[in-house]
Amino acid sequence: MTFPRLFQEMDFGFLRLANRIVMGSMHTGLEEASKGAERMAAFYAARAGAGLIITGGVAPNAEGRVSEGAATLENDEHVAHHAEVTAAVHAAGGRIALQILHTGRYAYHRKCVAPSALQAPINQMKPRELSHDEVERTIDDFANCAALARKAGYDGVEVMGSEGYLINQFIAPRTNVRTDSWGGSFENRIRFPLEILRRVKKAAGDDFLIVFRLSCLDLVEEGSTWEEVVALAKEVQKAGAHIINTGIGWHEARVPTIAAVVPHGAYAWVTAKLKQEVSIPLVAVNRINTAEVAESILARGDADFVSMARPLLADPKLPEKAKRGDVGAINTCIACNQACLDHIFEMKVASCLVNPFACHETERIVTPVAGSARKKIAVVGAGPAGLAAATTAAARGHAVTLFEAESRVGGQFQLACVIPGKEDYAETVRYFENELVRTGVTVKLGARVGVKDLAGFDGVILASGVTPRIPKIAGSDLPHVVNYHELLAGTKRAGATVAVIGAGGIGFDVSEYLTHPEGETSDAYYDHWGVDLAYASRGGVKRPSPWKSARRVYLLQRKPGKPGETLGKTTGWVHKASLKARGVEMLSGVTYERIVPAGIEITYRDETKVLAVDTIVLCAGQESELSLKAPLEAAGIPVTLVGGALFAGELDAKRAILEGTKAAADM
Ligand code: FAD
Ligand code: NAP
Ligand code: SF4
Repeated sequence: MTFPRLFQEMDFGFLRLANRIVMGSMHTGLEEASKGAERMAAFYAARAGAGLIITGGVAPNAEGRVSEGAATLENDEHVAHHAEVTAAVHAAGGRIALQILHTGRYAYHRKCVAPSALQAPINQMKPRELSHDEVERTIDDFANCAALARKAGYDGVEVMGSEGYLINQFIAPRTNVRTDSWGGSFENRIRFPLEILRRVKKAAGDDFLIVFRLSCLDLVEEGSTWEEVVALAKEVQKAGAHIINTGIGWHEARVPTIAAVVPHGAYAWVTAKLKQEVSIPLVAVNRINTAEVAESILARGDADFVSMARPLLADPKLPEKAKRGDVGAINTCIACNQACLDHIFEMKVASCLVNPFACHETERIVTPVAGSARKKIAVVGAGPAGLAAATTAAARGHAVTLFEAESRVGGQFQLACVIPGKEDYAETVRYFENELVRTGVTVKLGARVGVKDLAGFDGVILASGVTPRIPKIAGSDLPHVVNYHELLAGTKRAGATVAVIGAGGIGFDVSEYLTHPEGETSDAYYDHWGVDLAYASRGGVKRPSPWKSARRVYLLQRKPGKPGETLGKTTGWVHKASLKARGVEMLSGVTYERIVPAGIEITYRDETKVLAVDTIVLCAGQESELSLKAPLEAAGIPVTLVGGALFAGELDAKRAILEGTKAAADM
């Protein structure tokens, strides 16, 4: 498979980019980590195959930082730190631009400022209004930051003007109610970004790449109109920007724009629309997770570049693999957000569920083995933990046999793949299947191994995972009770009215599965969340018209409090809003009395009643499958436990893959 458009060069005269892949800006937490420069240098150098890397946002002054202690580039003292990063990227043959980000009213600290003193719905901090002189000084800070970026060896800067940050706050009437020369009319509101661009250009020079990230679809009320976006884009071009990167949705928008429910390339239409209006190159963004999706956007002429941020966390060598046509070897981003964005919101260094080496390039090192250090290793179970363990051990040089009871690899992750919106999870299974062949693992499917099958191995990695917990509720053995495994594997079906027991990640996924309309098209996403494809309104939002479920579903949990509290920080709200819109009734603080032929008897808010349902689906957590552990130990065979076999609580594929990888790295 070839990608002719993806691997076309772009020559700006003073700078040549080798291909059309822009690694989009991501805050990774390395910016503030100890040994941050060294770690960032390794992180970005590993991704130098992209045509252009854009760094995580760095503030031009203290007020613009995302939080206390976040990175700024304000004076010469900061330059050496950045120079270490740019030197590493250039040595690896890459190009890198610094993103200048002033967070404005999204800053989580007391110095939070904005065009107007209007608090963001997603921030507890109330901003202070910038005075006229402070606006002038802030513009100078952007220019100073760009000049320092040049000094530090960057090839350019991206001026962050979207996602609802400071520049966007000046542009939109939603957040700018000033009455001086920086507010009121559209011309006044866009003076701030245009003045920044002019002064940045003056400070950094004509032969320095300037990318402007322009919010092309705010997805909030009182955002920009399409006509304003076009007018601003034309002015940005006149002001000397070389590239416009598309921004989609403010952080406070109630529309998911990068979660797994968003169709691939769902917002390329916005970039395509802008392409008819300006002549400088444009970057398409959001959910472009494979080389195929990227190539198709370029082939349609929707954009000149594609932005791939998380996909390069998942696989730093995506560009190189795509260039040589080896797409089977690409580890695809599945848009789970679990190790990247969720980590950032938990104030942890980012990584990647499918690639635990991401952002840990200098620490998680796997070394080859040779000679007598080569061992004969058995891995039991081909779920995420076993797959990671087997392929890592084999890549090191060990002789590995992987045993799996089912007829296919993937374990419980195969069940995730059937959940609407999680179709990309099949890519992870596909990637590991490719790795098993590439690393030479011997795979034995369709047989549950016993201890006698494991004699003669130097070591066993037990990755036998988990089985669904069957709660001790009277009547659990009645025929209308099914567990999530049976339902999702297709061996049992659900009727028209269903009670789901357990509102953890799997209970939510099962409810999604049960209420999802058949034959849904990608247009349904826009209607469901209220994205106005006609762009007739400010911000491009319209009244959402969510799908209604034909099935009646109750989602139950015993603990008090809102269901869904254990879901991912950046995706939980999407799942909750979806199910609520489809009429799923979520009940907390429920006591399960018994299951009866007519449904399930529960006590809820001091009232005992029968919920009349024809199916009960058990999603009550899991238990470790450990039947092999004691016999192996008794036989004196060294055994290492990973994933669900090690601990069933708080298990997810992120932990399973990390543990499998680490166990194999230590063998
Ligand atoms: P498992 O996946 O349980 O794999 C164990 C394997 O071992 C099985 O294939 C089993 O057949 C095999 N085995 C057991 N005993 C033997 C034996 N004696 N011989 C041979 N083979 C044996 N996680 C996330 O991180 N994000 C998600 O979004 C997510 N969504 C999910 C959605 C659903 C519907 C489900 C069910 C799970 C989801 N998970 C998700 C959880 C994730 O799939 C699990 O955490 C992960 O699969 C656990 O990996 P594991 O390798 O430890 O165990
Ligand atoms: P879970 O999140 O631990 O939820 C289990 C649910 O079962 C809880 O709601 C619990 O609530 C209930 N429960 C536990 N014991 C019970 C019992 N004896 N009787 C009745 N109810 C009981 O586990 P899960 O949903 O099985 O998910 C497993 C793992 O997969 C999770 O850790 C999760 O991280 C991962 N996963 C992640 C995602 C994702 O989108 N990130 C999606 C799916 C799965 P009460 O005790 O309050 O009733
Ligand atoms: Fe993609 Fe998930 Fe990895 Fe983030 S953690 S880069 S969303 S696969």
